[in-house]
Amino acid sequence: MASFTLHGIPVSRGIAIGRAHLLAAAALEVKHYLVAEEHLEAEVQRLQQALVAVHKELQTLWLDLPKDAPTELGAFIDVHALILSDPMISEAPLDIIRTRHYNAEWALLTQIDELSAQFDEIEDPYLRERKADIQQVAERVLKVLMGSAQPLAAVGDGEYQAQMIVVAHDISPADMLQFRDRSFIGFVTDVGGQNSHTAIVARSLDIPAAVGMSQASTLVEQDDWIIIDGDAGVVIVNPSALVLEQYRERQNALQRARKKLNKLKKTPAVTKDGTPITLLANIELPDDCAAAMDAGANGVGLFRSEFLFMGRNSRIPSEDEQFEQYKRAVVAMKGRPVTIRTLDIGADKPLDQTEHTALNPALGLRAIRYCLAEPQLFLSQLRAILRASAFGKVRILIPMLAHAFEIDQSLAMIAQAKAELREEGVKFDETVEVGAMIEIPAAALALPMFVKRMDFLSIGTNDLIQYTLAIDRVDYEVAHLYNPLHPAVLQLIAMTIAAGNKAGIDVAVCGEMAGDVKLTRLLLGMGLREFSMHPAQLLSVKQEILNSDLARLASQTRKIMRSMEPDAIADAVQQLQLM
Ligand code: PEP
Ligand code: MG
Repeated sequence: MASFTLHGIPVSRGIAIGRAHLLAAAALEVKHYLVAEEHLEAEVQRLQQALVAVHKELQTLWLDLPKDAPTELGAFIDVHALILSDPMISEAPLDIIRTRHYNAEWALLTQIDELSAQFDEIEDPYLRERKADIQQVAERVLKVLMGSAQPLAAVGDGEYQAQMIVVAHDISPADMLQFRDRSFIGFVTDVGGQNSHTAIVARSLDIPAAVGMSQASTLVEQDDWIIIDGDAGVVIVNPSALVLEQYRERQNALQRARKKLNKLKKTPAVTKDGTPITLLANIELPDDCAAAMDAGANGVGLFRSEFLFMGRNSRIPSEDEQFEQYKRAVVAMKGRPVTIRTLDIGADKPLDQTEHTALNPALGLRAIRYCLAEPQLFLSQLRAILRASAFGKVRILIPMLAHAFEIDQSLAMIAQAKAELREEGVKFDETVEVGAMIEIPAAALALPMFVKRMDFLSIGTNDLIQYTLAIDRVDYEVAHLYNPLHPAVLQLIAMTIAAGNKAGIDVAVCGEMAGDVKLTRLLLGMGLREFSMHPAQLLSVKQEILNSDLARLASQTRKIMRSMEPDAIADAVQQLQLM
């Protein structure tokens, strides 16, 4: 078997060695033939049975949902079930069989192609995105039709699964669910960016993964041996014995390093020269607090509250429901601060069935803009957060601020929520701190406006890079332009840290840069003292901190900041690692 290597985008670190399990039907060849008149009804029935089988499959998925599964995952299954029973899928292809005599697979694909073309015309980004759901549902039906109808649950025994690597064109949230449950050891997809939903889950599970492989699901065959080098975004298919051996050695070394890292859980994060550094966790749901506590986080630096709102068929969680969730996180963190970011909905995180038709959603009505346009919704979230503050230390973080009036209106809404609670005699922490996310270049260039009004700052580098470099962060075709070391990005980050430090208010980085060990020393050198990242990244960052000498880093970083040459900057940042 010929060995070959594929290059894509690294999204989750580590090395996985295993057998390919092709998940998507992209690689399946669909037969095309015309059905004789007397067999038409049998062909119609064949498709109907496949539809019923997929219905059952989705039901099983739903029932098997682990208790702690994010709510949006259940809702994604619901969406797939709805699509399946829509006449567009459940009836139109049957008509195609009857009228055009196409075989079932061909009829289904014909209908899907027509629907896809219609979806491409739709302006509403939310609806346009549903095209992927329709295709995922069609893939399930095709798999059943083609006799390889193996929901993942039916594949192999435990030992086989233990070394399975999922290879897919794209991974639907429903299938990702199983990915969470079963011990798949890695995943590879044709599409997706560094911040795609699948990428984020892989990173949070700490499983090696690479996306944006463009042809992987057609080139890799079922049961091929593959190696994922998650650090490099490289996949080696059918490696030679020698290569396999080299990677096994690297894998063992990584495992040993990881074990060693675990010993740092209780070690305070202090630099060589004795400066304490705060290490916080990014969480999506209250359940993630367990991992944050286990990793020894000093608190939660970013609770992405919008995950409580997503995938609920537009049913917004009530104030009480939200309060219960925020309180759970606060209680779980046992007195450590929990920074709850207010709803950051929009762009790649749409609230179900929003009717917005923004042509360019990343620049549209998202985050605080959305909240200020929906004051009732915002107020109920603020009340819920404030109520949770009676149970531990809570901080409020406002995303995507750019204008002074947005800050002022947000603060006024918080004041209103407080006044209401006071009047109602409901307990809350009167001294709750309010911070701003610095994630729009305009904010980083107008820091006095923020420092004057806010208690703390948190730099959202994911969006700051997206907006500074004008690259859609989820589009893999421009992913190569997404560069945290671009001099413009570094200047904005350094300015923000310096302004916060000068004013004596906390500044954190909570974007993905904070969890990237290759950048830890650079950020320390810039004066950063608070890092917020996924719990799985915390110990490696801590290790970097323990080995850092701040005075030396600061002087080297000053030199780096004077450079506008990307290659020189990249080299110098590498040199910092060796100091
Ligand atoms: C960011 O933009 O860096 C950030 C932390 O927020 P999100 O990734 O949720 O947009
Ligand atoms: Mg952001």
